Amino acid sequence: MVHDHSAHVGRSQPPVLVVNGEGASPFILACDHASNRIPEEYGDLGLTPVQRLMHIAWDPGALAVAHELSERLDAPLIHSTVCRLVIDCNRASDKHDLIPVVSERTDIAANVGLSDAERQKRIAKYHAPFHATIDAMLDARKAAGLETILITVHSFTPVYKGAPRPWPIGLIHGTDPTFTGALRGALLGEDPDLNVGWNEPYSAMNGVTYTLEHHGDGRGLDATMIEIRHDEILEHAGVAQWADRLARCLEIARGGRAGAAKTELLGSTRRHP
Ligand SMILES: [Zn+2]
Repeated sequence: MVHDHSAHVGRSQPPVLVVNGEGASPFILACDHASNRIPEEYGDLGLTPVQRLMHIAWDPGALAVAHELSERLDAPLIHSTVCRLVIDCNRASDKHDLIPVVSERTDIAANVGLSDAERQKRIAKYHAPFHATIDAMLDARKAAGLETILITVHSFTPVYKGAPRPWPIGLIHGTDPTFTGALRGALLGEDPDLNVGWNEPYSAMNGVTYTLEHHGDGRGLDATMIEIRHDEILEHAGVAQWADRLARCLEIARGGRAGAAKTELLGSTRRHP
């Protein structure tokens, strides 16, 4: 099942999982907010069952899309297995919202007044292994001379603090917008009416794109952050549709990233295969 929420609470798991690690694709998929699992030692983190299923705890649907993209592209996928309210793997370890005390409008009382020792423990157990696993894979690929394009996969809530978000998909770039622009060109080449958010629902300026910046910009890789609105991917049909579309468009973007004009040309010729 795509959404087996309840089984995630408390179950013992490694902090990070690698799927299809030997995949032949140049694309490497990373999913920071894949799981709402709260490790046993943290109980329910003071949250209700409903709160644990909400976007404040994870990115619903994102892992399902990432799994299907991994299959379609034959791409390695690295994902966290821990609720972002325990520790947020898409934040630098020195940031104030690494272990949030409030998420949107929900107070996370169990995180208030944490000792530095507890903070360091969570970094060591959950945050560091996730990033070390990405580093190890990227190091190995570099050593082997393999092409690598980093894709981080997220989902976002349709309404945030009362404001509706109109984009079914948003693309966020780091220092170099080239690959992200090529992906946008490919998506619009298939569907000119698609409302693709550009650095929406937020941008790297908001300090919420650590994985993209650290591993993508940090290594000078082509990279992008994909955000899909939850309501697009709550059912398997939507997950499959987005995985199909993104798999096609990522390949087009890879071929066309030398220039946006070329990408649009490639995209338009592929509109009616
Ligand atoms: Zn996310």
